[in-house]
Amino acid sequence: MQVEQVKPMFINGEWTEAENGETLQVMNPATGEVVGVVSYGDEKEAKKAIAAAHEAFKSWSRLTARERSKHLYALHELIRDHRDELAAIISAEMGKPLREAKGEVLGAADNFLWYAEEAKRVYGETIPSSLANKRIMVIRQPVGVVGAITPWNFPVNMVARKIAPALAAGCTVVLKPAESTPLSAIRLFELIEKAGFPKGVANLVVGKPEAVGKEFTDNPKIRKIAFTGSTRVGKLLMEAAAKQVKRVSLELGGHAPFIVFEDADLDAAVEGLFESKFRNSGQMCICTNRLYVHEAVVDAFSEKLVERLKKAKVGDGRNKETEIGPLVNQQALDKVLEHIEDAREKGGRVIYGGSRLTEGEYAKGFFCEPTVIADVNTEMKIAQEETFGPVVPILPFRDEAAVIEMANDTVYGLAAYVYTQNNSRCFRLAEALEYGIVGVNDGAPTQTQAPFGGFKESGIGREGGYYGLEEFLETKFVSFGI
Ligand code: NAP
Repeated sequence: MQVEQVKPMFINGEWTEAENGETLQVMNPATGEVVGVVSYGDEKEAKKAIAAAHEAFKSWSRLTARERSKHLYALHELIRDHRDELAAIISAEMGKPLREAKGEVLGAADNFLWYAEEAKRVYGETIPSSLANKRIMVIRQPVGVVGAITPWNFPVNMVARKIAPALAAGCTVVLKPAESTPLSAIRLFELIEKAGFPKGVANLVVGKPEAVGKEFTDNPKIRKIAFTGSTRVGKLLMEAAAKQVKRVSLELGGHAPFIVFEDADLDAAVEGLFESKFRNSGQMCICTNRLYVHEAVVDAFSEKLVERLKKAKVGDGRNKETEIGPLVNQQALDKVLEHIEDAREKGGRVIYGGSRLTEGEYAKGFFCEPTVIADVNTEMKIAQEETFGPVVPILPFRDEAAVIEMANDTVYGLAAYVYTQNNSRCFRLAEALEYGIVGVNDGAPTQTQAPFGGFKESGIGREGGYYGLEEFLETKFVSFGI
């Protein structure tokens, strides 16, 4: 990828550089190369963008849903047409394998299509009145200006999942993308411009997280904060947003259990686990963090898993054959290696991988071997904290009730997985697990129309489907005296 001039941000329909003159380099985590330089602003740009979005809200919110949808349809087409280019940018700036990156881009396009359609179905209600001289009407209206903050692990789709329903509902948006991955957000906003959205409807601010975040929480023109990222930052934003009782939706961290019963189809379970643990190099909020395998099949399962991992090509995400890319940066790699080391020190047995890859094609990148650790116990960091890397800790179990208890014994509640061929157990587990998403014999439980979000400290609110649109709507009761 060619590094051209400094890339600006998009505010009020114009490409603008930060007043402070600061810039930020974007690096490919597979090679250490600089793949782009972006303008890096602060609260000044956030203020301007919020003012523009506030002004644009007056007319955008009054358009009919059909009129708004036209732009969303156009953007859907444009994203599909530029799918290879967007995927290449994602892969270059955060290392995701190209095949996965293309899937992500298509997922993003699908969100714009789905909400273009769903925008037209924001219905109200009439409710029978108890009083003969009154009539009750309920209407749904857009919340107002939305401040959206997204992480680097799905740099295009996380943006789409927020701005597609927000714009469909009639809200206007200011987006702050992650600083590791601003290039794909900038390209997406070039397509937003091309799709003909009126100026100020969608704004992009690349800038200092604390400064922009503070402007989002403190500026009264922002009525809603939509955030995906760590539980730590989610809590900070929620606390700050409380001062003005702003609405928040938070998609936060996870610590997913993956439970394999003795009656499971082990080959299907290995493939499901591979999908759930190694996609995006283990850097997904719904990634498996604890693998519980029934003691009767733990050896057979572990063997099959190791065989599968031996076939997985680790490498630069831009190579077609790569299945597992690098981690996003040095800090991410250090955390994963620390979890492996901590497990080793506390009696964990590394049965596959376990180290950083440093030779040849791996020399300049942040690569970790896909790793499997047996004899894991609950004292280990890996069994308690989100690892965010390609490491599987195995915890054997004997009893259904006990595994449910262990699986639920965490502050997180985003995704859980169960593999069993016993129908009754499928239902028991699906209902007993305290998680917002349960994959039953399914290692990739995400679809545009389905609700995505967590229980407990994994978040508040849902993205996806009609649930995602609801997050950007207010409910108004109109009482008519007649
Ligand atoms: P993060 O550090 O919380 O960053 C997420 C976003 O918040 C980035 O744009 C970041 O900006 C910004 N940010 C950081 N500090 C901020 C502050 N004080 N005020 C306002 N914004 C701030 O999370 P991450 O490490 O990038 O992402 C990984 C986490 O996201 C994991 O915990 C993962 O589970 C979670 N996640 C959850 C979901 C879900 O749907 N539940 C989906 C994907 C990821 P900078 O990049 O500029 O620092």
